[in-house]
Formats: sequence, C-alpha cells, structure tokens
Amino acid sequence: MTLPATAAPRIEVLSVGDELLAGTTQDTNSSFIARELFALGLGLSRVTLVGDTAADLRQAFAAALDRSRVLIVTGGLGPTVDDRTKEVVAEHLGDELELDPSVLEDIRARFAARGRAMPEINKKQAMLPRGGHAIPNPVGSAPGVHWSRAGREIFLLPGVPAEMQAMLRATVLPQLALLFPAAERRLVTFRTCGIAESELAERLQPLMQQHGDVVWAFYPSWGGVDVKLRGQAPAGGVSRAGVADERWAGLCDGVRRVIGHYLYSESPDVTLAEVVRRLLVARGWTMAVAESCTGGLVAARATEVSGSSAVFTGGFVTYANEAKTAWLGVPEDLLAVHGAVSAPVAAAMARGALDRAGAHVAVGVTGIAGPKGGTPEKPVGLVFLALASPEGCWTRRLHLTQRRDMNRAIASQLALDLVRRHCCGLPVGDPE
Ligand code: ATP
Ligand code: MG
Repeated sequence: MTLPATAAPRIEVLSVGDELLAGTTQDTNSSFIARELFALGLGLSRVTLVGDTAADLRQAFAAALDRSRVLIVTGGLGPTVDDRTKEVVAEHLGDELELDPSVLEDIRARFAARGRAMPEINKKQAMLPRGGHAIPNPVGSAPGVHWSRAGREIFLLPGVPAEMQAMLRATVLPQLALLFPAAERRLVTFRTCGIAESELAERLQPLMQQHGDVVWAFYPSWGGVDVKLRGQAPAGGVSRAGVADERWAGLCDGVRRVIGHYLYSESPDVTLAEVVRRLLVARGWTMAVAESCTGGLVAARATEVSGSSAVFTGGFVTYANEAKTAWLGVPEDLLAVHGAVSAPVAAAMARGALDRAGAHVAVGVTGIAGPKGGTPEKPVGLVFLALASPEGCWTRRLHLTQRRDMNRAIASQLALDLVRRHCCGLPVGDPE
C-alpha cells in the first residue's frame, strides 16, 4: 500500500447497506459527512455505495482503502447477521475481534434502562478489534472503530444517521482537525445575491483557470449563489505543494473584485437579513416595507434575525389596489394608468411606507407571482422593486421564473438586497 502522492489528503466514504442499493434508504450519511468535511476545509474525493454481501463489501473496502488517506465507513455495525462491516474490515486488516467487557456492560445497561434484558445477538456489538480503538456512541449501543494503519485512518461508524452524526462530530472531525492542522487548510465562502450562477462562473473563469489547484464550488439557491474555494496550504516545509499565503490572499482579492457589489458576506452562516440588520445598526437607520406579491415575506425575512426590532419599524401588506391607496396613499390614477404591477406604483408604495412608518428607508414590492395572471405585456415573474429614502427613490424591474414560490422568495431576497446596497452607497436601481 503506497500513499497517493498528492498534497491534499484523499478522503473517501464507503456507505454500506442493501437498503441503499434497493433505493429504500437515501444515502444521506455521505452528504452529511461531505458538508462537515467541507466546513473544516477538507474535501471528499469519492463516495462508494455497497450492499451487505461480504464479497462485495470486502472488494469495495480494499479498493477504497488503497486510494485514500482517510476512509470513513458507515453502516453494518448493528447486531444482526447482515451487519458484517466490522468483521469484514477486521479480517482484511488481519485484526481479531475480542469481547470488550466494559462495552458489553454499557450495552446491557442501555437495555436495562428501558426495562429490557439485552438480547444475546447484541453481544456482537461489544466485539472490538485488538488493533483498533472504540469510538464512543453517545446516542446508541454500537461503538464505532478507528484504526490507524500504514499512514491511513479508517473510521467505522453506524448507519443510523443520528448516531453517525454524533460520533462524526464528537470523535472523527476533531481527530481529522488534529491530523490536518488548520494552517494546512484553506476555505473561503463568498455569498452573492442578484447575479446568476452562469454569469458568476463566466466572470470567474480566468481566475479558475489560473488557480486550477484550488477547488471551486458553486451552490445556487433562491437566495443567491455561494461560491466556495478550498485550497491546501503548504505544509511540512518545501516538500509539499500548496497555495502559499500571498497567492491565496491575491486570489481572494481577485474574486472580490470580480464579484463586486453582488458580494454580501464572506461568512457562510451570515444571512443577507443579518448583513442588512448590521448595516442599519451601523448607520443608525430604520426600515419599513410595503409588499404586494411577497405578502409579508420581506418583513418576515427582515425580522428572522435577532436584534431586528432595533432597525425594523414595520410593514404594510397591501394586496388589493384599495389597500395600496388607503394605507399607503398610492394615487388611484397612478394605479389606473400604469397598473398595480409597475415601477411608479412600486415607488409610490415605498414612499408611502417611508412616510407613514417614519423610517429612514423603505422598500416596495409589486409583481405577478403566477402561475396565473400573466399577460403578454406583464408576464408571470415580472416584479418591480423600489427603495425610498429622504434622498430619493429608485426602482428595479425583475424578470423572474414561472414558479410562484420561487418568485416570492427571490423577490423578497432582492428587496432586502436593495437596503444593503443603499446602506453601502452602491447602485440600487434606476432613479424614479
Ligand atoms: P443498526 O444497529 O440499526 O443495525 P447499523 O450500523 O447496522 O445499525 P444499518 O443497519 O446499516 O446500520 O442501518 C441502520 C439504519 O440507518 C437504517 O434505518 C438505515 O436505513 C439507516 N442508514 C444506513 N445507512 C445509511 C446512510 N448511508 N444514509 C442514511 N441512512 C442510513
Ligand atoms: Mg444494521
């Protein structure tokens, strides 16, 4: 067994279980592991699915082990005869299983706590390899196993997602963090809003080509596109390749320049709503909203973050034309001439909310959410946003999708984004 000659540790997952191949259970374990590894700045190289048949399992394990520096196996640690992962792996590694009395006691105690005697078959779960270490299971009976062999780390975890997750977080990830120090991992997330994935990718193409050793990942959602970059820092002196500090900093600056004012956060956990709240606090401003097609979603989004009461004054959900006139003072003739879904009405809604709520900034949203109600001039997905402040009023015209839920979600996010842009002195839209 020779280790792969790459700088990045090669990590693989082997998901075991007939139910995964039958399609009755989805392999959510590997995606969970992938996400957790990515958050640590480590990447997953391959996922293999295999059934419980011993020969297949043996073959898949041997092949995966041969390729990887770290191999995480989930499933087949239970008490039944079809749970044979531990036995197959121990045999492959030339290790022997022996009864661990303290683990057996723990399992017995778990059953006793529920007023039951331990079935004999559960004894199998207390059989542990001499050459490995038990991984404690805080939420179930079967412990996992960790082997360090020939420069490789092998982790066996149960298939039950709650148990696998708890053990991964409590034991496996901390071990990997020790094994691959933070200084050797590089990870950055650029959260964007208001720019399509394809346009982002096109803009970033030259940088992607220039830095082919960095892993680039695009995660689009209705809220925008997150761009994640993962690289390997040089480690162990000059012998291992990696992205040096200066090059990494230069790359991040390059990405910031290319993404420009679509970038709202570099923290994966910080939402646009939170960014807006912080900006408003910093300016000492308050905001109000006037919504039609989003039916209160902008207000909901603005208030989903703790501390929003300091910056959010209130919102008007004005679905009917009469409500737009009575509650926001939108002139009837404006509605008659331009229609409710128009830039002038969005602007009048924003101005009405600004005045009536006494806020420093207000947004207005009006559009055709669909799937019905579209016309050739005003198709489904047509949305107008407006932002009003004492300095003036700006509007934006959006052409979104055919889906009602998406249109409402995207419009609410982009409405919030107008506030971010206004707070940052960035272009908001066309002057009204
Ligand atoms: P048990 O003690 O329950 O037998 P085990 O370690 O043997 O645990 P499995 O028998 O493979 O695990 O699976 C137990 C449960 O976990 C099943 O409900 C199965 O559907 C689920 N499961 C197994 N593997 C995965 C996976 N990769 N992703 C999601 N769920 C899984
Ligand atoms: Mg099982």
